[in-house]
Amino acid sequence: MRIDDRPRFRLSLGPTPLEAAPRLGAELGVELWIKRDDLTGLAMGGNKTRKLEYLVGDALERGADTLITAGAAQSNHCRQSAAAAAKAQLTCHLALGGQPPAKSEGNLLIDEILGAHLHWCGPHRKGETIEPIADELRAAGARPYVIPYGGSNPIGALGFVAAMEEFSIQCHNTGVEFDRIIFASSSGGTHAGMIAGADRSRIGATLTGIRIDKDPGAALDLRDEIASIATELMDDAASMPPIDLVESFHGPGYAVVTDLERDALLRLARTEGVLLDPVYTARAFGGMLAMIEDGRIRRGERIAFWHTGGGPALFVDHDSRIGS
Ligand SMILES: *Cc1c(COP(=O)(O)O)cnc(C)c1O
Repeated sequence: MRIDDRPRFRLSLGPTPLEAAPRLGAELGVELWIKRDDLTGLAMGGNKTRKLEYLVGDALERGADTLITAGAAQSNHCRQSAAAAAKAQLTCHLALGGQPPAKSEGNLLIDEILGAHLHWCGPHRKGETIEPIADELRAAGARPYVIPYGGSNPIGALGFVAAMEEFSIQCHNTGVEFDRIIFASSSGGTHAGMIAGADRSRIGATLTGIRIDKDPGAALDLRDEIASIATELMDDAASMPPIDLVESFHGPGYAVVTDLERDALLRLARTEGVLLDPVYTARAFGGMLAMIEDGRIRRGERIAFWHTGGGPALFVDHDSRIGS
């Protein structure tokens, strides 16, 4: 699939900043920068904005009038999909895991503000119920466009092919040649798009995904899924690098806040004034800190931490206290 042939519906206010983090970098003995995709600008931002530019472009080209997608109750992807739908004047249906909570907080509150139609799907938070809902909408005369869990398919991943071009220009302008890009990885589309985009934009950095959660029922191994999406987007699949996906940090389970996440969140906030989210980016950042500590990441490395957003989850009642 060639990026130049695909319709793009503008949602991001980007380019998002590439910000130096010199205080924390000096403490850690690395050169640290942060790619601020928490600032994409669409309804509190995040990496899904980039995927949705191509997914909504495709939906509009196909004449859809409705978007349907799925996620957890606190899904950042669902929140940004609801905002993208509003901007494109499409109806939005969200298949959310769990039961309706007594009170709407964080991302869920924003889904409601944006006018999304919510379907509570019990144990199914990864899109198992999308198709039956889409069938019902079709039967009622709507033209739904199905966005998979996390927006992770080749069309969504094109957003990160474009992101890598944006990043390569910023690297050129700042004069930094990065050794590594680190980011939170869950459904894999971000990682896949980065691989294809790095190839296209000649970025040599190692792409290190920190796995945030694990799906025991998944049909495909996440590495295989990333490779399969990236292959669709690359001119020459032979240039596929080894997929660097770190699986040391998701043990406690999805959205469980432990000392790793809490310490990372406080440390970056108190050195650079940058806020991570407790579910994705704090786990990835905490993983990075642990890997610097144990030597898996060398001192002196030039690292771009790709901040994928998620801020609204800070305003949700978590089991463990974060701020003190
Ligand atoms: C979805 C999400 C990710 C993971 O992106 P994938 O493409 O699903 O791997 C990382 N961080 C945040 C904040 C997210 O919402």
